[in-house]
Amino acid sequence: MRAMLLEQIGDIDSSPLKLREIELPIPGAGELRVKVSVCAVCRTDLHIVEGDLSQQKLPLVPGHQIVGYVDQVGEGCTHFRGRVGDRVGIAWLRSVDGTCRFCQRGLENLCPESRYTGYHEHGGYAEYVVAPEDFVYPLANLPGAFDDAHVSPLLCGGLIGYRALERAAVPDGGKLLLVGFGSSAHLVAQFARHRGYEVYVLSRTKSHQKMAMEMGAAWAGDETGDLPCKVDSAILFAPVGKLIPPVLEALDRAGTLSIAGIHLSDCPPLNYQKHLFYEKQLRSVTANTRDNAHRMLREAAAAKVKPMVTMYDLADANRALADMKHSRTDGTGVLQVGG
Ligand SMILES: [Zn+2]
Ligand SMILES: [Zn+2]
Repeated sequence: MRAMLLEQIGDIDSSPLKLREIELPIPGAGELRVKVSVCAVCRTDLHIVEGDLSQQKLPLVPGHQIVGYVDQVGEGCTHFRGRVGDRVGIAWLRSVDGTCRFCQRGLENLCPESRYTGYHEHGGYAEYVVAPEDFVYPLANLPGAFDDAHVSPLLCGGLIGYRALERAAVPDGGKLLLVGFGSSAHLVAQFARHRGYEVYVLSRTKSHQKMAMEMGAAWAGDETGDLPCKVDSAILFAPVGKLIPPVLEALDRAGTLSIAGIHLSDCPPLNYQKHLFYEKQLRSVTANTRDNAHRMLREAAAAKVKPMVTMYDLADANRALADMKHSRTDGTGVLQVGG
């Protein structure tokens, strides 16, 4: 099968992903093989390709926002037995032990034994992918408007954004500041508007500011200092640690800042009075649970969340990631793989 393979990490502008012919994967016990239709690109893929994350498996097929069709059902599968051809989604979280103290508290996203698709095992920048059926999401119930390309960005951008939104603890009718307006933020803006929050957007990219206003934001601008009011909650999407102090300052009393990224540059020193006093909270977000995914997909259908997508051929994965890195795309880049 064709795959975009990472053999050696490198700057995305040097096109480190190579189009290769690799062996068709065979599903093991409890696993499905899925024929990939589309795979959306994610900032985490960029971090993996450029070597910002540790424990690199090489060679590696990245990709963890996969929409495809069940192609082969491994031995011992129960949910998907006899379901060849069903439309399904595969996301970042690939497996957990199910027994540790975090799994038992409903925090499987923090399982020390968790493994990830497109990181520990090959992902969706390929014609086929194999994943444990317990971590494959049925997509049969999504309304028809959600074609494959418009579902895929929900599977990480939407999902991490959704968990970040929950962690941001926005009060009813509250004001939410989104810092950065890339693929995840533009989905969160739609969930937030559906829930009745006021949305404020900070982005240096003029086209992103314009898109935010078109999506119903109350304000979009460059600098926290220009915000017309304090906000109740904020989500930091930009992987830029130096934004933490000004965003904490922009929070009202009891405000919460939730950090959506998997990777963040260093945060400058904080001043307790200015940045944290009055019960402000600073929270990180780590992956997601399967329950988050099921709830997000239901709410996306109810809110008619519409990802903005830019399509690329599988072979153009380097360009898709480079365009994301340099903020040259609006919304999410999606690789067309099959069909
Ligand atoms: Zn666990
Ligand atoms: Zn992701």
